[in-house]
Amino acid sequence: MEQYKRTEDCGSLRKTDAGKTVILNGWVNRKRDHGGISFINLRDRYGITQTVVGEDASSELTALVSELHNEYCIAVEGVVRQRPDSMINPEMATGEIEVVIKNLVILNKCDVLPFQIEDKTNASEELRLSYRYLDLRSAGMQKRIRLRHEVVFAVREWMNANGFYEIETPAFIRSTPEGARDYLVPSRLYPGRFYALPQSPQLYKQLLMVSGFDKYFQIARCYRDEDARGDRQPEFTQIDIEMSYVSRDDVLAMTEAFIGHVFKKTLKLDLPPRFKRLTFEEAMEKYGTDKPDLRFDLPLLDFSSYALMGDFQAFKDALESGGAVKALVVPSAAFGSNSAYSRKQIEELEAHAKIYKAQGLAWMRVTGTGTEPVLEGGVSKFFTENHKAIIAGLNAKPGDLILITADIKKKTANVALGAVRSKLGKDLGLCGQDAFEFVWIIDFPLFEYNEEEQRWEAAHHMFSRPQEQYLTTLESDPGPVKGDLYDLVLNGYELASGSIRIHEPELQKRIFSIVGISREEAETRFGFLTNAFKYGAPPHGGIAPGLDRLVMLMAGETSIKEVIAFPKNSFAVNPMDNCPGEVEQKQLDELHLSVIKKE
Ligand code: ASP
Repeated sequence: MEQYKRTEDCGSLRKTDAGKTVILNGWVNRKRDHGGISFINLRDRYGITQTVVGEDASSELTALVSELHNEYCIAVEGVVRQRPDSMINPEMATGEIEVVIKNLVILNKCDVLPFQIEDKTNASEELRLSYRYLDLRSAGMQKRIRLRHEVVFAVREWMNANGFYEIETPAFIRSTPEGARDYLVPSRLYPGRFYALPQSPQLYKQLLMVSGFDKYFQIARCYRDEDARGDRQPEFTQIDIEMSYVSRDDVLAMTEAFIGHVFKKTLKLDLPPRFKRLTFEEAMEKYGTDKPDLRFDLPLLDFSSYALMGDFQAFKDALESGGAVKALVVPSAAFGSNSAYSRKQIEELEAHAKIYKAQGLAWMRVTGTGTEPVLEGGVSKFFTENHKAIIAGLNAKPGDLILITADIKKKTANVALGAVRSKLGKDLGLCGQDAFEFVWIIDFPLFEYNEEEQRWEAAHHMFSRPQEQYLTTLESDPGPVKGDLYDLVLNGYELASGSIRIHEPELQKRIFSIVGISREEAETRFGFLTNAFKYGAPPHGGIAPGLDRLVMLMAGETSIKEVIAFPKNSFAVNPMDNCPGEVEQKQLDELHLSVIKKE
């Protein structure tokens, strides 16, 4: 190999290199034969260089060239030649030159490819994941994995410059509950005992604060054994952060600064120094979700006063039962050239609203002229006296479509219409491709009621701190208690969650008891934490942005698999090595395990 070792990479040669003898190593990206002349585009991580074998080449060299196929790994030795002006390819960084091959060595052949290596491949996800090592050679994957590296590097750079230590926490732990199931690792040495893989480093990072490290971060792998749904991966990566002696606003400002640094360093984009903020309640009222996509506005409006004016009984019933009636005005401009939404399209929206438990989706069209607008169709006949008031109150214009949900549960009216809003955003192309709209959601409820199990549970996790004003009513009235919790949302995705934590053993025990963990269980599972709090634990708080999601959004992708080198498929399987796999009986015996196979 020594004599074929590359002297340059495939992305670096320019016309100033003309005349140089070079050796390049790489893959055959494409070979073209033009009447005795062969052009071989050679590719590596750095780029593509055109190499040429002319008519005057030796018969040996020509024979070797004829053997080449795509993705053969080769070494070429040759002389850099400036291309004539007419042959310059401005699309390629190396487009001004080509390398005239003198010697060629096939370093390794390539089998028939399962799919062509292209930026936008038609290969199925299963095939791409089965041959991930080939898929990763594509320009798109190379670019995204590089972005991921750059993001991680920028995070480390900012964290180091701002006094954070990167500290690894163990992968084999007792258990950190984040609301999912643990992956368990059986202990060979202690029959019947198991390690858990961390759902997050939550408890360890809090302990690091007790230990005085003050500012911690870690690019941390987290493991959650959840049912395969949407874009979930059994393992994913968080940028895990914790700080001592901080308030909520300190954590928010730190996050804004480091995310700003990451965007500037990698995408060369300036983010606003402060991100918008919405309380959880505002987000639910205005967008029907705690993950609003603010690349477009379309707020949900309160329709209750108009509902009371009209004769539509379902609206009135919802209000009388303490529910809500909410409206969405879809501006005519949003429909683009199809100046209105058809009945069929409205029915599709209704079906979507019903997935979110809406009884239905009422609608009306604004027609008429600018000075004499009127309502038409749908439920407009129940509001004949009130057209003007509704149009003016909702600030609607001729051509607009009004969509309405009503429910005895305010949450359902909001969530269902919020889901319609999100669908419209996508369907009508309102989500700008290169836009990044960050928003903080603050003042979340600390607890959520689990109807099925008839008990309160932590909305975030059990270590988040209730806001001071609720400390006396935690047990008597958990519902309204707000926590010092915050989520960072980007383009409709939850990018990060965090909170100010509890640092007093007594308060922590109260929370355990409210979520139904007995004293004994709390002692066995979390005694080490409440004990640590007894030794002068400082007030602390933190946050954990998801690295996969962050890179996915920065890369303009919609699946985190596009930014993970070796992800699992949607069934939590890796089709390349076929894990999870079976193990030998001997291994099971050593682990004191027996497997009961389902019929
Ligand atoms: N550990 C939390 C999570 O994974 C994040 C945090 O509170 O810092 O959601």
